[in-house]
Amino acid sequence: MTKCLYCPHHCDISEGSTGRCAMYSSSNNEIVERYPDHWLVVTSVSVETIPFVHGWPKAKALQISTVGCNLSCPGCVSEILARTPEAIGTGLRKIDAETLIRQAKEEECLGIVFCLNEPTVSLPSFLRVAKLAKEKGLFVACSSNGYFSDYTLNLLLPVLDMVNIGLKGINPGNLRECGIVNNRIVMENIKKLVAAGVHVEVALMHATGFDNDLIQQAKEVVSISDRIPIQIMRCMAFGDLGQEYEPSIPESEHLCARIHEFTPHVYLLNSPGTSCLDTTCPDCGRVLAKREMYGPMGCRPVSFSHTNMCSCGYHLPIAGIVSSERFEEEGMDGGYRPTRALEFIQGIVSCLGVDDPSCAPRLWRSFLAEGGISSIHDRIQKISSYYGIIDEVAGIVDRKETGEELTAVLKEMTARVTTAVSGAARPRVLYTMGYPVFSLNGGRFENHLVETAGGNPVNRMIPRTGKPGVNITSEEFYAVNPDWICISGLFSLPKDACLAYCLKNDLIVPAIEKKNILEMPASWDFGSPRWILGLMLLAKSFHPDRCSWDVTSEADRFYRRFYGVPFEKIHPTRSFIKASAR
Ligand code: SF4
Repeated sequence: MTKCLYCPHHCDISEGSTGRCAMYSSSNNEIVERYPDHWLVVTSVSVETIPFVHGWPKAKALQISTVGCNLSCPGCVSEILARTPEAIGTGLRKIDAETLIRQAKEEECLGIVFCLNEPTVSLPSFLRVAKLAKEKGLFVACSSNGYFSDYTLNLLLPVLDMVNIGLKGINPGNLRECGIVNNRIVMENIKKLVAAGVHVEVALMHATGFDNDLIQQAKEVVSISDRIPIQIMRCMAFGDLGQEYEPSIPESEHLCARIHEFTPHVYLLNSPGTSCLDTTCPDCGRVLAKREMYGPMGCRPVSFSHTNMCSCGYHLPIAGIVSSERFEEEGMDGGYRPTRALEFIQGIVSCLGVDDPSCAPRLWRSFLAEGGISSIHDRIQKISSYYGIIDEVAGIVDRKETGEELTAVLKEMTARVTTAVSGAARPRVLYTMGYPVFSLNGGRFENHLVETAGGNPVNRMIPRTGKPGVNITSEEFYAVNPDWICISGLFSLPKDACLAYCLKNDLIVPAIEKKNILEMPASWDFGSPRWILGLMLLAKSFHPDRCSWDVTSEADRFYRRFYGVPFEKIHPTRSFIKASAR
């Protein structure tokens, strides 16, 4: 047996077997990486995508990611690559540290950042890159759960400039589920990182019912240093978490306000359209930086003062320099977006009824080769190209016939919709995420669904694009003048909250006057073949006199056929993979 020293699990690993994270094995009484210098993601990103809000603002950095984690938290956004490292590990690309740093320099990155999974489980590879990065004058950053040993901390300290630590709360049951035996270790690590001069940001996941726990933990962080920005990650019902754990955006904003009472800089993520992503001066209240959502867990600065000093004299505590221009990533590259792309593929696999684990390595070898993640983005924005992905996935997992049947069903249901709405007057439809002032990109799949369902996607009148959309002004909201507002099934908002927001902010358009607000069920408009149900729901809502189908009956038929469960038994989830959280 050889003991792994990298994290507090201190796994005893016998020759040839692996530890809890499945990323280290034992060979000749030494702990060795299973995939040394192998990477899942190597791509340039803006640091706010990771996210860092007070560290090297607007800087471009080279993101590197592997697979695996030493924890197993319910609802993890990276579940697909944290829980199945063996399967996805077959698709990793071997790139040595010199090549990575050369790429970072060629792409004019100011630093490197390990994000998406836990650096502790690929520590020797990360350290090789980090040391070389420092030699070449780049900053080194990572996202981490902070559950690493003193041994690891001492290896990281000489190279690490900044870190985002994701805390797991204080509830003993939740910590046990994550695999955290001693929560003090994480707080002690934060103290040591701060004492060593590392820039630390802390992320807290806000799940319903845990507000007081979060406030207690935020107070503890602030007692270490009130310069640490607190990021509130609104919980999303990913993985096996049910939607009952998902607070609404107004509920998370209320939590931010409570935390703001004892620390100046609190930020709310996963909440499109919120103003709680902005930095305000604690002394005079001026807005020093405006930000908008930029993918799961991420944001981007819309404006950021170059001096990091308020006109009243307040100094915003930031690390590094403020870059003059922000960098924008391509497609589904960067931050946590690749997890959505991988789930997208796995969502088709589960719809095909595949439960043979031996298919997974074949799948990822094929899809991750030649930068497969980036290519997925363009292929999932149209119904026509979606069929091609089903065909490809079905071929790889030996389910050609089921793939053909799925495609035939999707085509038949789509044809019913197009026939029914043909020639009908098209209502103006604004597709939103979160608050109604966050407009999805006009080219997104959801707007393609609106068009197919006989609507006029007015999002296309907004020239700017983001990930997956942009904040719009009240003038733009009035200009698009929607007859319908559709709220995404991914980052959602209760219909009543949408109505209340518009009334409070004097955003009165026909959709609000007639209460034409559609809250799309989770995963019915993007990410899984269940989009067909979203299409039928949209058409039925826009053109009830022309669409005779009953959406519930259609859903029941679809769920029974492709997931083997009646619709009424479904526990809704934002997961692209699972039809039901339980
Ligand atoms: S890093 Fe992995 S193998 Fe090592 S102690 Fe932690 S869980 Fe076990």
